[in-house]
Amino acid sequence: MSADNVVHLSRSQGVTQADLAIAKLGTSRIESPMAHLLDARATTEHYVDEDDRVLLDDTVAGIRARGVSLDELPGLEPCGPRRKIYFDPSKTRAGIVTCGGLCPGLNDVIAGLVRSLTYHYGVKRVVGFRNGFQGFISSYGYDEVELTPQYVRDIATDGGTVLGTSRGAQDPEEIVDCLERMHLNILFVIGGDGTMRGAMAIERVVRERNLKIAVVGIPKTIDNDIPYIDQSFGFQTAFSRAAESIRAVTVEAKSTANGVGLVKLMGRHSGFIACYASLARSDADVVLIPEVPFSLDSLLDHLRDRVRQRGHAVVVVAEGAGQELMEEVSSTDASGNRRLGDIGRFLRARIEDDFAAREIETSVRYIDPSYAIRSVPANPYDSVYTVRLSQAAVHAAMSGRTAMVVGRVRRRFVHIPMELAVSKRNQVDPNGDLWQAVLESTGQPVRFA
Ligand code: ATP
Ligand code: MG
Repeated sequence: MSADNVVHLSRSQGVTQADLAIAKLGTSRIESPMAHLLDARATTEHYVDEDDRVLLDDTVAGIRARGVSLDELPGLEPCGPRRKIYFDPSKTRAGIVTCGGLCPGLNDVIAGLVRSLTYHYGVKRVVGFRNGFQGFISSYGYDEVELTPQYVRDIATDGGTVLGTSRGAQDPEEIVDCLERMHLNILFVIGGDGTMRGAMAIERVVRERNLKIAVVGIPKTIDNDIPYIDQSFGFQTAFSRAAESIRAVTVEAKSTANGVGLVKLMGRHSGFIACYASLARSDADVVLIPEVPFSLDSLLDHLRDRVRQRGHAVVVVAEGAGQELMEEVSSTDASGNRRLGDIGRFLRARIEDDFAAREIETSVRYIDPSYAIRSVPANPYDSVYTVRLSQAAVHAAMSGRTAMVVGRVRRRFVHIPMELAVSKRNQVDPNGDLWQAVLESTGQPVRFA
């Protein structure tokens, strides 16, 4: 078994300081408007030293393995306000867009960005673009939204995104035409891996045209699959709500003879929600995740055993698990993401058939709470996290940083190059301590082989 720190060491392997460098539009020469306020409090500690770094490796073994001097150790730029900034706040215009699927906390990000831009820096114009990247394209005919602290005051009480979202490719040249036409200096992009690739395409065009527009991302993934960062915003809210669904099917399963409860949770490639929600409740007899393939026969044998011993059984399955057991779905969504086979319905049918073939009475209660989970507002923990992420994004953008996302690594907010943030996916390590914790909690076999 590898522990968390070993996993972290392997995650950062191969990454050098050059991979962590953050692009800047130019030299920061403008005094931060916060300066007089901080000086009034006789402190400058609030500012982040431009030369400081948060080390990527977090163990002595990891540092030793690098075999380099202290100055050469790879480190991430810490987030936070800089004493000198790049953009003159009185002349700065910022835009915000949300793309991809819903996730708790999107409205908190929008509100956090608007408040920080307005209250900290005194930026006077912040616009929201409607329905994802479509909002930049004139043929869709969407008006921009003027975002003010007043406008965003109550938006976080609802889930979803007040700006709307969409999938599907849009021409980055046309998007940058729009940014130019509107004289925007900063674009904040909130979305998943696809959105960040779109943001990179926009940033490329900005650079080709020699424009001084900062493109800063606040990465969104309910699946918690962004590499390097501790946890994505909305994840805690999502697995808490998912745990409620496990509770519900457990009650249902216990209420009928040989009842089987089945919950399908989000997790296309990474089973973090399934693992955390199952650990949050001790009801699950089996957790199935994309990272750990399983044999159907072996799973059914185990389920029958459990039902025999306990009178009921509960299965938690991540949507990306067991795809190899079903006929491949050839279609893709508007953004080109492969559609998954419905493992929940598949398992329900197989469990029912198996019990029927052996003349065991059962009822399978299946729920797919995905939309109910995606649409809830962020819980207080995620709200705090999200607000702080958005403030970090504002500080980064005002200092002229671009082509980067904000994240938190070992409780420190840091800048991560966009390219690195989409370079791979964070997954549950089948030999790691999280999966071990799940196995200890469910008592399921190490492998359904
Ligand atoms: P999630 O997967 O969590 O729902 P996502 O951001 O990955 O979020 P997508 O629908 O894949 O969601 O992408 C969102 C937007 O980004 C879409 O408008 C899509 O066209 C655009 N996009 C995706 N990949 C690219 C790419 N490689 N280059 C340019 N734009 C892209
Ligand atoms: Mg995606």
